[in-house]
Amino acid sequence: MRANVDVFIVGAGFSGAVVAERLASHGLSVLIIDKRPHIGGNAFDAIDAHGIRIHPYGPHIFHTNGANIAKYLSRFTEWRPYEHRVRAKVGEQFVPIPINIDTLNALYRLELDESTVEAFYQSVREPRDPLRTSEDVVLNAVGRDLYEKFFRGYTRKQWGLDPSELASSVAARIPTRTNRDDRYFTDSFQKMPLHGYTRMFERMLTHPHIDVQTGVDFFKVRKTVRARHVVYTGPVDAFFDYCFGKLPYRSIRFEHEHLPTTAVYQPVGTVNFPNDFEYTRITEFKHLTGQAHTGTSIVREFPQDEGDPYYPVPRAANEALYQRYAALALAETGVTFVGRLAQYRYYNMDQCVGAALKSSQYVLDKLGLQAEVESTSTGSERALPTRMRDNPVASRSSG
Ligand code: FAD
Ligand code: UDP
Repeated sequence: MRANVDVFIVGAGFSGAVVAERLASHGLSVLIIDKRPHIGGNAFDAIDAHGIRIHPYGPHIFHTNGANIAKYLSRFTEWRPYEHRVRAKVGEQFVPIPINIDTLNALYRLELDESTVEAFYQSVREPRDPLRTSEDVVLNAVGRDLYEKFFRGYTRKQWGLDPSELASSVAARIPTRTNRDDRYFTDSFQKMPLHGYTRMFERMLTHPHIDVQTGVDFFKVRKTVRARHVVYTGPVDAFFDYCFGKLPYRSIRFEHEHLPTTAVYQPVGTVNFPNDFEYTRITEFKHLTGQAHTGTSIVREFPQDEGDPYYPVPRAANEALYQRYAALALAETGVTFVGRLAQYRYYNMDQCVGAALKSSQYVLDKLGLQAEVESTSTGSERALPTRMRDNPVASRSSG
């Protein structure tokens, strides 16, 4: 492991990997570590014991409206078109979620169409103002019956909290449709990395200026690494030794199962269970990856408090606690905090990429490199000030 580098990055998920790639491409020497035995963070994928590509940390579907983000990642992967579809089990029916015209017609035996659906929503919604909580958002949009059928139970399982205790932004992730579109996302770019996320991360991190070390915990090595700047993508409260108390992060237990003689287990990628079982949803990976196989592999998600931190929990009290940590983070001038755990933000993958590109620019500026971070140039020499060109970063790093 290099002990003397320009930039020391903690965490090899989307946030850390993007910063590592960008800074290395501008000539900086980078050490990136992860305490897990692999790169990719929660987006890591792998072939299971039965030959099927799975996502060990739950289903990851890539979608973005950020053309620059798609373009950036396309340097490291080819893509396969994939539009995610989800059904929710309500009673004995499996109906589209987000709620659309077909959901309503199936549940209530109606014959709504685009000209009548708005009036239906108007007749059932419970107007709320302001929309402070997730309960407000859903009741305001679709009223109590649909709230109870789709949102209340799912949210209580997922977060261990009632929707009335969660910020409006959580339920606002799920739109209400006035058409028949049954795609989970409507983003302009919806594709999966053709050879998987891990392969994409490998291509990002394979660079002569990047030293990747997995199975290494920052808190065990932080004193042994000398760096001009640190980029931290782990939980922000851990960095500060929980000095204001623990920030709540929600975890999940993933129960993977292989079905050797079932070619197709369910009709769509994910089925949600708002009201039945202890798990929230089942995902069948072959839908996401397009892989052909005589068997299939699925995962059930059991949310829990203990375990690896996966989700920040958006609610006012947590945001207030986070802001106290954020003030400490701001004062750490030698450290940049970025990502879902470090910024305590419910980021999707593309938002992590966007935040990481911004952070990369910040670090370049901070270290005195006059360069544009999204430049496709590989001419790192051109980007470096004279002082560094005379003393190339690659040869300064030891190990
Ligand atoms: P992470 O991926 O969490 O990476 C942080 C890394 O830091 C981890 O690998 C961790 O091991 C490491 N680390 C932490 N502490 C230390 C330490 N002390 N020392 C060394 N290393 C450390 N997003 C989408 O866009 N689409 C989806 O479909 C989607 N589905 C999801 C499903 C689930 C179940 C979950 C949990 C998330 C999902 N996401 C999805 C969100 C996505 O996972 C995140 O946006 C993204 O992976 C976060 O990247 P990150 O680099 O910020 O954090
Ligand atoms: N949600 C729900 N019922 C559903 C789907 C979503 O109540 O069938 C709520 C729930 O609170 C969930 C949130 O909407 O946590 C966001 O859902 P999303 O599918 O975006 O969650 P993620 O994929 O991030 O776990």
